[in-house]
Amino acid sequence: MPVHPEAEEHLALPRNELRTRFDVKTTGRNPRVRVTGVAGVTTDDTHFKRLETELLEKNALLESVLENVDACIYTKDRQRRYTYANAKMAAVVGREPADLIGRTDEELVPADIAAGWRVLDDRVFETGEKQSGEEVSRSPDGELRHFWVVQIPQRDSRGEVTSLVGISTDFTKFYRLKEELARQATTDELTGTRNRRSLLETARKEFTRAVRYGHPLSVLMLDIDHFKRINDSHGHDVGDQVLKAVADAFRRELRDSDVLGRLGGEEFGIVLPNTGDEGAVAVAERLRARIDAMRLSGDWGGDITPKVSVGVACGQGASRIEDVIKRADQALYAAKAAGRNRVCTAAELAADADDPCLPVNPAA
Ligand code: GH3
Ligand code: MG
Ligand code: MG
Repeated sequence: MPVHPEAEEHLALPRNELRTRFDVKTTGRNPRVRVTGVAGVTTDDTHFKRLETELLEKNALLESVLENVDACIYTKDRQRRYTYANAKMAAVVGREPADLIGRTDEELVPADIAAGWRVLDDRVFETGEKQSGEEVSRSPDGELRHFWVVQIPQRDSRGEVTSLVGISTDFTKFYRLKEELARQATTDELTGTRNRRSLLETARKEFTRAVRYGHPLSVLMLDIDHFKRINDSHGHDVGDQVLKAVADAFRRELRDSDVLGRLGGEEFGIVLPNTGDEGAVAVAERLRARIDAMRLSGDWGGDITPKVSVGVACGQGASRIEDVIKRADQALYAAKAAGRNRVCTAAELAADADDPCLPVNPAA
């Protein structure tokens, strides 16, 4: 009878309970090499077998989760070398998972992206605490992707942080949605300039900054003259096109640091940082002249020649932006009263000048 020296045996007990035994057996031989018997040790291996099965099942489950979850999952050692990366993580850097192992971000992605990714890593290893934050990556076609990243420190048996686990989720779609909502909340849909709320908020911030640094700041209020007539003659849609054309013309005349917004109807406001009375009057006159020279032709027949009146106020001596805006508004009102298509300044108004407005054509 052949004898197997080592073997696993399964044994069904009454009530169908399955036990696993591990047998080690050896033959007994006499000096003339004749088998005289078998000696064996049997260990009940059922417990370890169960553990092994459970472990294998859990590993399979973990692998299935790691490969199918909609997130990048990775581990890094203290030198910030990848020790594990799932397929999603590898796809972010355009590689296979195995290519990441032993490499740092600096070896895998452009320097500016890697520098961003380093921040959370360093914080986890410095503090030994869980960290989270936003990170960006660039896809192969150059598109910026936004991730929400959570990183958890991993400790050895002595409590030393030896590695980290990272979980990062692509939330680009929501990020863009958030940006679009923010844009809509601050933009006037018709003209693409800031809306009233955004203009006033920015004006307040610019005023605070101007006061803190002792810089000048001016405000212009602009209103299209007899706009109602344009609407009445050509219809509301044409009126809308005129509004857009006027806003575009303003935008082209201004610097990037100037803040343009539509306050409502056919009225606009402009904040001019680092600009005193004289500079503001020059800008206002340039804008007025630009609109004065405008000839808008279209399928409405004949040219539309919009005109605009402008009120100018300088922030000097004011303690609140609301006061500057109010003075610019009074100057605008004076420009309307003086015959429209002209620039009027709050300073001249305050000085009680006979004519607080500039001549319509100062060069003449
Ligand atoms: P003034 O020179 O005194 O400013 O006269 P005006 O006709 O420009 O001023 P008024 O306030 O009498 O009329 C403004 C008109 O602007 C009336 C309103 O119907 C029109 N309006 C307001 N908002 C819009 C808009 O979004 N689109 C169009 N097309 N018209 C608008
Ligand atoms: Mg008007
Ligand atoms: Mg108006």
